Amino acid sequence: MRAAGTPPQAVGLVVPGIVDSERGVAVHSENLGWRDVPYRELITARTGLPVGFGHDVATAGRAELMLGAARGERDVAVVVVGTGIAAALFVDGVPLLGHGWAGELGHSVVDPRGAHCVCGADGCLEAIASAAAIARRYAAVTGEPVAGSREVLERAQAGDARAREVWDGAIEALAAGIRQLAAILSPQVVVLGGGLSRAGDALFAPLTAAVARHVPPHRVPELRPAKVGAHAGLLGAALLGREAIA
Ligand SMILES: [Zn+2]
Repeated sequence: MRAAGTPPQAVGLVVPGIVDSERGVAVHSENLGWRDVPYRELITARTGLPVGFGHDVATAGRAELMLGAARGERDVAVVVVGTGIAAALFVDGVPLLGHGWAGELGHSVVDPRGAHCVCGADGCLEAIASAAAIARRYAAVTGEPVAGSREVLERAQAGDARAREVWDGAIEALAAGIRQLAAILSPQVVVLGGGLSRAGDALFAPLTAAVARHVPPHRVPELRPAKVGAHAGLLGAALLGREAIA
């Protein structure tokens, strides 16, 4: 029970992996090794508070839809490009969850003869175009380790042809992934977040051109940079927590 005058409280919790936000269960995380952990129940039992619970990308997507770059839109994909690539999908304003299995855009194949992916397939989008993959691919081609995708971009801009090839290959792969989204879900807006989206025009200008070049006869989605910032996932979970109070 809360004292009179104190605002209602809730917990916002985000986790990676496969997350069934409707049941409040972290179904599977390859990196953290958990299976079917009933987080909502556990945290509610510990705190006595309502819990807004979801996948970090799904909740970041919710924050972008309600407060950020996709505010006021209905058909939206929020694609987060970092160590991996995943998407939060909204169809007519409703999240498309698939019990936690929807939105694994990083494992859609964009080049069947492309790089091997951790999931076992070849040519997955995130094996070519994630920030980690860009750095890894450049290091593999040149034998020179780099700090991250930003350094590959800087080298490309300074005239390094091998860096340019890796960067442009990532752009083409991302464009192919976005075209798949356009063909299947036809989002009006694709919001790009995560570390790579901070590359600004060096990403958005060629990516917008590459998507538009091949996308007809589908609706060409508008690409926008994420707005909410690094804590979008937590903010989205807080929004869910607020809904849990209501
Ligand atoms: Zn994969």
